[in-house]
Amino acid sequence: MVVSQAVPTTTDKVNLLDFDRQGLRDFFAQLGEKPYRAEQVMKWIYHRLEDNFENMTDVGKTLRAKLEASCYVGPPKTLFDKGATDGTHKWLLGMDGGNAIEAVYIPEPTRGTLCVSSQVGCGLNCQFCSTATQGFNRNLSTAEVIGQMWVAAKYLGNITHQNRRITNVVMMGMGEPLLNFDNVTKAMSLMRDDLGFGLASKRVTLSTAGLVPMIDKLSETIDVSLAVSLHAANDELRTELVPLNKRYPIAELMASCQRWLDRKPRTSITFEYTLMKGVNDQPEHARQLIKLMRRMPQCKVNLIPFNPFPGTRFERSDAETIRAFQTQLLNANVLTMLRRTRGDDIDAACGQLKGQVLDRTRRQAEFRKRLDEGASHAA
Ligand code: SAH
Repeated sequence: MVVSQAVPTTTDKVNLLDFDRQGLRDFFAQLGEKPYRAEQVMKWIYHRLEDNFENMTDVGKTLRAKLEASCYVGPPKTLFDKGATDGTHKWLLGMDGGNAIEAVYIPEPTRGTLCVSSQVGCGLNCQFCSTATQGFNRNLSTAEVIGQMWVAAKYLGNITHQNRRITNVVMMGMGEPLLNFDNVTKAMSLMRDDLGFGLASKRVTLSTAGLVPMIDKLSETIDVSLAVSLHAANDELRTELVPLNKRYPIAELMASCQRWLDRKPRTSITFEYTLMKGVNDQPEHARQLIKLMRRMPQCKVNLIPFNPFPGTRFERSDAETIRAFQTQLLNANVLTMLRRTRGDDIDAACGQLKGQVLDRTRRQAEFRKRLDEGASHAA
């Protein structure tokens, strides 16, 4: 066996996208520079999407040389990008090794939403999510999370505070954001920061499968909006769909949501509910959901028609069943939206993001085996 010499792939320089505002000020202090210099550079990076120090014309020559020697602005590399017929745009972004993650832009008449990934793969194994079949490799760095927005903003010609193409961000791409807490909250603070992308708290949403202690921690750490992936209102079914429910069952999850609302009385929580044919789309399921929502009248339910992917055992509910489910909720005064499926001709819809995950959990191998077994049963 030939053992190849380890080749250093990272530079010793610091990636400025890894710093929030305070981090950047501290770094500039280490360089012997005043904090306002950090803020000046921050505006170049996030308002003007500049990654070349040479072009930062109001930064003195000596400082520019110092920056050149010690750091860089390093967004992820676009390996591939593609637009869908409905205007949705997807980026495949290269990480280290052979890993890649995806980010998706979804334009609507009054807003543009960027869906951002938090991990390479995911460890939670939600049964109806295609990312789960790929296993888990690692958490993304702050630079890799905010870098997705940087790349998309640059491509779209986004101008912060003026012509915003990206008006909303949802942490609903690959991964469970609350399992990458520090890097995700730092990246979200850059999304919120006036010297960053300057988005209001209600326009930056973190979606979680329900990590109860981390929901509490999030409410104490940063002001953003919360979405919770519910998908079933009884524990037996939810545990089957979202195995994390075994650890944090519905009652505990709802209690943490209540604590969130108590801390932030003027906000609401969105509960996501993916509708799967014959699994969680029946009138009794709607009744259970109504009962749960009754205690949180200010909250919303977001129904997502299931998006299929190769090898899945689930199917999308019929249009009529979806409508009936929504009507049942609306009639019980539960604020209920139906998420339109976007970008499905480029596999960019919820739960279809795959990227390229070098799995460390052997889940991919198991999934392939199950697929093969399924194929041979069918043959
Ligand atoms: N891990 C986080 C964020 C990622 S998924 C979470 O669980 O919330 C974003 C949303 O898409 C979640 O509500 C997720 O349950 C849902 N989803 C996953 N797979 C899906 C699929 N195949 N069809 C429709 N929605 C899906």
